[in-house]
Amino acid sequence: MSNADVLNFIDGAFTEGTTGKTFENRNPINNAVVSRVHEAGQAEVDAAVRAARKAMDGPWGSMSPQDRADLLYKVADGINARFDEFLKAEIADTGKPVSLASHIDIPRGAANFKIFADVIRSHGSEFFETVTPAGEEAINYAVRAPKGTIAVICPWNLPLLLMTWKVGPALACGNTVIVKPSEETPTTATLLGEVMNDAGVPPGVYNVVHGFGPGSAGEFLTQHPGVDAITFTGETTTGEAIMKNAAVGIRDVSFELGGKNPGLVFADCDFDATVDGMSRAVFANCGQVCLNTERVYVERPIFDRFVEALKAKAEGLKRGDPFDKATSQGPLISQEHRDKVLGYYKRAAADGARVVTGGGIPSLGGDYGEGSWIEPTIWTGLDEDHPNIREEIFGPCCHIRPFDTDQEAIALANDSRYGLATSIWSQDITRANRAARKIEVGITWVNCWFLRDLRTAFGGAKQSGIGREGGVHSLEFYTEMRNVCVKL
Ligand code: NAD
Repeated sequence: MSNADVLNFIDGAFTEGTTGKTFENRNPINNAVVSRVHEAGQAEVDAAVRAARKAMDGPWGSMSPQDRADLLYKVADGINARFDEFLKAEIADTGKPVSLASHIDIPRGAANFKIFADVIRSHGSEFFETVTPAGEEAINYAVRAPKGTIAVICPWNLPLLLMTWKVGPALACGNTVIVKPSEETPTTATLLGEVMNDAGVPPGVYNVVHGFGPGSAGEFLTQHPGVDAITFTGETTTGEAIMKNAAVGIRDVSFELGGKNPGLVFADCDFDATVDGMSRAVFANCGQVCLNTERVYVERPIFDRFVEALKAKAEGLKRGDPFDKATSQGPLISQEHRDKVLGYYKRAAADGARVVTGGGIPSLGGDYGEGSWIEPTIWTGLDEDHPNIREEIFGPCCHIRPFDTDQEAIALANDSRYGLATSIWSQDITRANRAARKIEVGITWVNCWFLRDLRTAFGGAKQSGIGREGGVHSLEFYTEMRNVCVKL
């Protein structure tokens, strides 16, 4: 593990910046310092915005969609060529197991560039529509122009994957970007700067500024009048703060926010496949995926059996060396986040929940003693208005409650301010489909979880987000439609 410096990347060059401020980036497996990160101030954010806007006037601004797509293929190839470096950096920042990072985070991070290169290749940046307005003959055509300079504000749970999910389409559509990675996971966004330079992406097209939210790079960036639109993934309360900044100057936003996702298990499900699937839905990435399930509703005839089966899965998770392929559970992202999750664990026990398994901190000892490890935890018996059922915990835990009718299950699922994702488990596809159409979320899985085609629409309902990204849907946010009417 190196004690390298992580620098800002502005106008194609790495820079410490002028603030003189650094912060420590720690590995959550043992709390060791991985690197020192150079915090950007107002001057660096100004410089990044200037560089990004200037790049639109250079070769990038006049590059054809085909040429941009070719360049994005080179970026994807560049990530894949340095796969192990990205993998190690992501694991050092997050502590997630190699089995996960090597199958999801890094390959998907590279794929995001190819998928959106293909979208722009097949759709081009111009769409023609011919109509004849009443009375007069005319041709209308619509041009999709880039929005301009986009601020990309990212979370720590899937750092490269979620960042490139936004940078890929933004660049494919001809925008320039300034990325503010999470302060917890600054490294892969920075490495990507090297890949961009090697691929020949012009300076200023991709920029990275490091720091925090309020009073730091995140706020400076989202307040900046030179930013044309903001795409953000993170907590709902942060989204509210960013939306206030975006209101000044009427800037567009795309938000992927928090969730409190329900899972519905019907008695006619394929039991073993459901337990496997729900185990992933609850515990994957140590419960730190916005799509994880924290509320499980199980039809009464199989309730007890299901609780016992999920308990066995939780107790079978293996913690330890992230580079050991057998490791299936990493730590939480930080000690601060572990304190928050542990607060929910303590509250459930104090309020009379039945703690089916877990509820505390495992004793790993040795080098891992200082890490932010936590036990996977299952509760039953809490009321639906308990904070553990209302609020997003973002840890490896769930509450399981029995239900008796489909209507009741749907009402329980919808009783939330969030509306991100759900999974429904039943072999009666008509029944599952009927429920799917009534549950107020952006993403519904039937007999699966996290099965993603990157061309499909992704986003949340209610307070889980604004807008949809993915495939052609991303074009809606990352371009501005201009209509031209030519009288014949
Ligand atoms: P967070 O909101 O704390 O931070 C996200 C980013 O916003 C960080 O880069 C942070 O520095 C920045 N930030 C914080 N305050 C800011 C401000 N006032 N102005 C500008 N930037 C600011 O979220 P997190 O803890 O990093 O991530 C976990 C959250 O993200 C969870 O709520 C999770 O559900 C959500 N999430 C949602 C999705 C989705 O697709 N819906 C995906 C992943 C994560």
